[in-house]
Amino acid sequence: MIKTVKTVDLKDKQVIMRVDFNVPMKDGVVQDDTRIVAAIPTIKYIISQGAKTLTLMSHLGDPAGDAEKARAKAEKDGKSFDLEKYIKGKHRMAPVAAHLQKKLGKAAAVVFAGEDGCYNKKAFISAQKPGTVIMLENTRFHKEETSKDAASRDKLAKALAEYGSVFVNDAFGTAHRDQASTASIAKFVPVSVAGLLMEKEVNYLEPIVTDPVKPLIAIIGGAKVSSKIAVLESLLKNSAALVIGGGMAYTFLKAQGKKIGKSLVEDDQIVTAKKILEAAKKAGVDIVLPVDHVGAEKFDSAAKPVAVAAVNIPDKLMGMDVGPKTLAKYREVLSRAKTIVWNGPVGVFEFDAFAKGTEEVAKLVAASTARGVITVVGGGDSVAAVNKFGLASKMSHVSTGGGASLELLEGKKLPGIEVTRGRDYYIAGNWKMHMTRSEAGNLAKALVKSLKGGKHKYLAAPSFTAIETVGGILKGSNIALGAQNCAAEEQGAHTGEVSVLQLKDLGVNVIILGHSERRHVYKEDDALINKKVKLALKHGFEVILCIGETLDEREKGKVEAVCKRQTEKGLAGITPEELSKITIAYEPVWAIGTGKTATPDDAQAVHKFVRGVIEKLYGSQAARQMVIQYGGSVKPENAAQLMAMEDIDGALVGGASLKAETFTPIAKFS
Ligand code: PEP
Repeated sequence: MIKTVKTVDLKDKQVIMRVDFNVPMKDGVVQDDTRIVAAIPTIKYIISQGAKTLTLMSHLGDPAGDAEKARAKAEKDGKSFDLEKYIKGKHRMAPVAAHLQKKLGKAAAVVFAGEDGCYNKKAFISAQKPGTVIMLENTRFHKEETSKDAASRDKLAKALAEYGSVFVNDAFGTAHRDQASTASIAKFVPVSVAGLLMEKEVNYLEPIVTDPVKPLIAIIGGAKVSSKIAVLESLLKNSAALVIGGGMAYTFLKAQGKKIGKSLVEDDQIVTAKKILEAAKKAGVDIVLPVDHVGAEKFDSAAKPVAVAAVNIPDKLMGMDVGPKTLAKYREVLSRAKTIVWNGPVGVFEFDAFAKGTEEVAKLVAASTARGVITVVGGGDSVAAVNKFGLASKMSHVSTGGGASLELLEGKKLPGIEVTRGRDYYIAGNWKMHMTRSEAGNLAKALVKSLKGGKHKYLAAPSFTAIETVGGILKGSNIALGAQNCAAEEQGAHTGEVSVLQLKDLGVNVIILGHSERRHVYKEDDALINKKVKLALKHGFEVILCIGETLDEREKGKVEAVCKRQTEKGLAGITPEELSKITIAYEPVWAIGTGKTATPDDAQAVHKFVRGVIEKLYGSQAARQMVIQYGGSVKPENAAQLMAMEDIDGALVGGASLKAETFTPIAKFS
């Protein structure tokens, strides 16, 4: 879940925000202010919340690279080239700040922080009147912004982090870039959140990959298969049908043995196209390819359109658009959708004679929105198309990001989004050595019902004998299947033990390790627990690693020392990638099963300390993302208070997990 600017108190705070003001410029004049306008709701929101200052940062083209290209072009054309003038007209942020001021009017005063760059602006910012918006110079004047070297990026990021205690990322268009002002800065500010534009983008695009309202129909067009392989593979997982159009469709038709005349084709992608067709067949996803075309003898805006009424294209023609039979098919397929995602035109819509197919698709998608279908247009050319046909306002969402929306649809994690992600609450039930198989099955059935639609992450960990029964019931639900322990060896002569391989065979997802009863009753030490953690990770399990002090240790003031040791030793040898599969459960031994709960403040203090231990081991980002559950007599009455604490991200529940009536209110706390 991303954390948004609406979740933080902004009163009297200094805020630093990344926006995407990379707008087209000519001679110092903004040519298209769509991106500036898109950021205004977040700017106004922050100012209305009483922020002391709001400092904006953005890139504006690539000064070094673009200037070199412009110089070379001028040289080729035999024209003179004035570098200063070029930079001023294209890459300086002052005119953008002035444009923003016009747009904001009386809502806020905008000041430009100066052409000397983004460093050393702390005093300038602090000297501004409350509620001022400060625009920094183009971040890409500093090579550190885009450096491949993390230390170099950190240098600029640290300087930028001085300008605010809250970092807001509202620049969806650059969210796929791991740069100083988009991601590294989050390491150096206490709070990083998403702006309102970023929130909208993520809320529309992410569910298409993770959990779309089905049936999902994807329309993927554009010239090249090679640039869309990852998105096709990703969308295959959730789509009922994939409509493939545009230049890339001819590679697919050729892969099916059809004649494509002189159409655009990537011969080196025929094998890939065949694989995608095969995978779609296996997954039961309809692939919708053109069945007729509008062709032309050459690729030219003035070329004469020729109707090709069948799928095969004559040798002298190239496909430029889809024909009427194909559009009828699109209409039928799209009528089945509850969600439509569209990325890439289905024809050469830039040439009016070949724009009909793309225009019809835009109209069909717009009409679907009116029927209540969720319609998302993601990525450069299809956005240009809906704008050209005046239909942008008729879509549920038109993305402001080209590369970013494509990568999100590919299922990738985007650095600029990841830094704004809050931790999801995770509520786990440890059923210990309780219940027969049928009793456990009944509890599982009740939980599947009561937790349906629940917003958090859930786990049920029955005893070994009930795992298979409970696993069968939980299948397809939002509750993962846990085991309470595993052997430290993979297999062999270990009488009475249960191996990770056997747990895998039963469909277990998560293993609880180092529980206080394992440590204190069965005398498991840190080394043994660490061995089990490594083995479980090696076999693809998630792990809940339990830590916590005894009453004696608490009374002797050893809480921090014990938790530090158990955390460090439990995680010894675990890589940063593996860490994302681990949850820590802080369970003070004196509180487990005793009815005594740590006060929310006491629990919070230990959780914060443990997060600090993680930060020292794995860095601040990993620490921020680490889910730390509290365990020890969690009940419906105290769950919400505990979970309200900054560093408590869920609960590991024993006694109260044995009945749906007590576990459900904990799991659905609000
Ligand atoms: C546990 O066993 O992990 C636990 C926290 O138990 P209880 O909730 O009963 O204290």
